[in-house]
Amino acid sequence: MSAQIERIERLYREGTLPQEEMSLLIEQRDAASTEHLFALARTRQQEHFGKAVYLRGLIEFSNVCRNDCLYCGLRRSNRACSRYRLTPEQILESCRVGYAHGLRTFVLQGGEDAGFGEEPIARLIEAIKSRYPDCAITLSAGEWPRAVYARWRDAGADRYLLRHETADPALYARLHPAELTLEHRVRCLWDLKGLGFQVGAGMMIQPPGQTLQNLVTDLCFLQELQPQMIGIGPFIPQKDTPLRGERAGSLELTLFMLAVLRLLFPKVLLPATTALGTIDPIGREKGVLAGANVIMPNLSPEDVRAKYTLYDGKNVTGIEAFKTQLADRLAKIGYEIGMGRGDAPGYAPKFMQDDGKGQRTPPES
Ligand code: SAH
Ligand code: SF4
Repeated sequence: MSAQIERIERLYREGTLPQEEMSLLIEQRDAASTEHLFALARTRQQEHFGKAVYLRGLIEFSNVCRNDCLYCGLRRSNRACSRYRLTPEQILESCRVGYAHGLRTFVLQGGEDAGFGEEPIARLIEAIKSRYPDCAITLSAGEWPRAVYARWRDAGADRYLLRHETADPALYARLHPAELTLEHRVRCLWDLKGLGFQVGAGMMIQPPGQTLQNLVTDLCFLQELQPQMIGIGPFIPQKDTPLRGERAGSLELTLFMLAVLRLLFPKVLLPATTALGTIDPIGREKGVLAGANVIMPNLSPEDVRAKYTLYDGKNVTGIEAFKTQLADRLAKIGYEIGMGRGDAPGYAPKFMQDDGKGQRTPPES
């Protein structure tokens, strides 16, 4: 057995590797052993989730942002970005459409928009929850004080996505202006966890300056945090940012890291992200075959989708086209759409139980 296959087998068996072995595993990856890694990642994925890929409806509620992350097209210094903020009515309409298509998780994502802050978001969560009590709400709205997160949790938000982006402080500093720190971002993640959110973290793959060692640091950080969701995707340059001339992250390394994550975190919710679908037309299917189990169709109103320009070339297929195509595309690779809330195992709401078909029904007693 090659040393690489041995490492993969050990990671599969033990669910972890010593750091030096993890570095070697990533450094020495090759096509043949990677196929084996993907097969073992699928075994773990199917043990916990069967052949179901959960859907979440993504609603990009605002592209206004007070931050200036170097990689992102929504950064405040980008004058070329045409700004919008959805009204609560528009957002509720998106939820209605998503619900009619069977979606039971709504992901509200946006820039850090002070004009759509604590109160408006809290009221929005309450409105969605009162109309759709059987749905989960995921927020992805950046860094806020603990008290604000607490208000949103009380209002009914279930989950929060806040990628740590990179766990290496020096790389973090290269990709962000000085006022944004890794330390603060990590503190937000622990606050969110402490408040009982199902938490999602994650890193970009190959932003400028990232080393393979940085990725090992990311894995160590994730092992410490133990998030319920991990979102990773390739860095993709955006033409109106300072990183416009840089190379995009590779499909191959992103898929490799997805499979490693599946073996390190067998039960984690792992999306095949929009960025993956952007660098390769069948990137998301490839992601599922490497261990991912979540896909997020876009529910934003059609006229704003093109304005949410995190990066260039973003795949903005709406739910209508997406769902019909997706069922076929997943069937081709032997998977199916899993409806229902799709909570992390062990995180189903206490008053509901799973009937095993992805639909949640009240208990009999
Ligand atoms: N403002 C919130 C949520 C919106 S940004 C936040 O920052 O958390 C959502 C994610 O998009 C970020 O976490 C980042 O990982 C990703 N992103 C931004 N610009 C990107 C780029 N150029 N390439 C790839 N991913 C990018
Ligand atoms: Fe704003 Fe998020 Fe983009 Fe940073 S990554 S500029 S916080 S939208």
